[in-house]
Order: sequence, then structure tokens, then C-alpha cells
Amino acid sequence: VKKNGKNNWKFYSSLYDLEYMNPLLMETELYKALEQQQLLLHYQPKVNLATGEITGVEALIRWEHPVWGIIPPLDFIPLAEATGLIIPIGDWALESACRQLRKWHQQGFDTVVSVNVSMQQLHQPDLLGKIKQILKRNKLKPEYLELEITESVTADINQAISTLTALKKLGVKISIDDFGTGFSSFTYLKEFPIDTIKIDQSFLEGVPDSPKDETIIKAILSMGCNLHVNVIAEGVERKEQLIFLQKQHCNEGQGYFFSKPLPPEELEKLVPEIRQK
Ligand code: C2E
Ligand code: CA
Ligand code: CA
Ligand code: CA
Repeated sequence: VKKNGKNNWKFYSSLYDLEYMNPLLMETELYKALEQQQLLLHYQPKVNLATGEITGVEALIRWEHPVWGIIPPLDFIPLAEATGLIIPIGDWALESACRQLRKWHQQGFDTVVSVNVSMQQLHQPDLLGKIKQILKRNKLKPEYLELEITESVTADINQAISTLTALKKLGVKISIDDFGTGFSSFTYLKEFPIDTIKIDQSFLEGVPDSPKDETIIKAILSMGCNLHVNVIAEGVERKEQLIFLQKQHCNEGQGYFFSKPLPPEELEKLVPEIRQK
């Protein structure tokens, strides 16, 4: 029996659930997942809040285990980070997102893909080289790839800064994810070559009932404007939130109000350039 975050009790009755909770077994299975192609990416559109157009798509990883079913990233990314498996998984995600983007470009869907990148990946001295190769293999300009970085404690901020600076120079876009929730938001903003801030969805949850959350969002938007950094709001679920963001001149949003993350063939149904064919 395990107590989960939402204050209710979850009972692990079946053998599968017990296996699922075992990190050693999960590590072995995750290793197999990479070899046996059980990992996949779903894509969630980012939307221009003034025009409704899709400005980009975020790739979000899923694990389709043959027995356990679909496993959400928060159930295995932390383990992948702890075991070092995040490196091959991260390489796979970058390659796979770029391959999909290439296909979309050929179909006339001229969008940008955002890929989530863990701090550990930024500590690899050869990440720049890897990304250059991936872009070349898939015949993509660097401007079409965005990396979303989540704030976390980092052992070697200097390595991360130099990797990001080199990527930015190449033309790759850099965004800070979950902005406002880490303990180093402003340090990141100051030290990293940032193109975009993603306001964490927890702040939008309070709109329109919490004046505090609204004030925080307004402050982030105004700071973004003054720093010439693009700002996107994530977790847009309701009409009132959209109206609030439009009123604050927030240009971009992402959330269930527009679309859940979808498998590529489902996302294509939302894309006029592909639908018309
Ligand atoms: P994230 O990057 O902050 O992604 C946003 C999460 O919020 C996604 O959960 C998405 O499905 C969910 N979401 C989107 N719109 C809404 C909304 O309107 N309301 C609510 N309540 N949620 C919304 P998901 O896909 O479960 O991913 C969770 C986290 O796992 C991601 O958070 C990211 O930190 C991590 N992750 C996902 N894919 C990768 C990956 O390829 N590599 C790494 N390192 N981390 C990943
Ligand atoms: Ca993200
Ligand atoms: Ca986020
Ligand atoms: Ca998050």
C-alpha cells in the first residue's frame, strides 16, 4: 500500500503493480525498452493565442510496455536520470523528433519541434556534435529545433552554459521549462542564452481565482518583454485562462484547451497543410 500525492490510498494488488514498483526490474525493462523500440513520442501543439495557428510542437516521451501498458514519463525519467539511461533515451528522443519533423516538413507542415532535455544531457561534452549530426542526417536547419531545459540542481553549471551557448550560436532555440518552480529560475535566466520562458502550469491553475497567481504571470510576462525573451504559458485548460492571457498580451500557449499530446498521425488531423492533401 502506498500513499500517493493526491491524499488518497492506492492499493498495489496485482503482481504487475509490485513489479512496476521495483526499480531494479524497471531499470532492466527500460534498457530493453530502448532496444525493442517500446518508446514513442507524442506531440502537443503550441498555439499563437491571437491567431490560433500552431507555432510549434512539443515532443513528450511515452513508454509502451508489453505487460505494464503505457507508462508516463514521470514514472521512468527520474530512474533514467539516476541510472544514466537518460543519455541513450535522450539521444533517441532527439533523433526521433527530428525524423518526424523532417517528414512533416516534406508534407508542407513547416513547424518547429521542442524536445525536453535533462541537465545530465547538457553535461556531455559531445552533445553539440551529436545534435549537429542529427540535424544533418534529417536535413533540418538548427532553427527548427528547440531544447526545453528544466531547472534542476546541477553539478557543473559551466559545462551546461558552454554547451548551450554553442548550440545557441548554431541556431538551436533554448527554452526554460517550468519557469518559476525551481530554485534557480533567475540564475538560469541570467546565465543561459534563453529564447523562451515557459511559465509553469501551476501558476495558470489559479487563473482567474487567485490574484497572486495572476500577478506572478503578469510579472513574468513583463520581465520577458523587457528582456526580449519570448514567453509561453503551459497548462491552458479553460477559456477564462485563454482570455486572461490574451488580455496580458501573452503570445503563445499550450494545454488541453487546444489539444492533449497526440500520436503523430492524430496531430496531423489538426494541421491544415496536411489535412488539405
Ligand atoms: P513538461 O515538459 O513540463 O511537459 C508538460 C506536461 O504537462 C506533459 O506531461 C503534458 O502532457 C502535460 N500537460 C499538457 N497540457 C496540459 C494541461 O492543459 N493540463 C495539465 N494538467 N497538464 C498538461 P507528460 O507528457 O506526462 O510529461 C511529464 C514530464 O516528463 C514533462 O514535463 C517533462 O519534464 C518530462 N518529459 C517528457 N518527455 C521527456 C523527454 O523526452 N525527455 C526528458 N528528459 N523528459 C521528458
Ligand atoms: Ca517541456
Ligand atoms: Ca513544463
Ligand atoms: Ca514539468
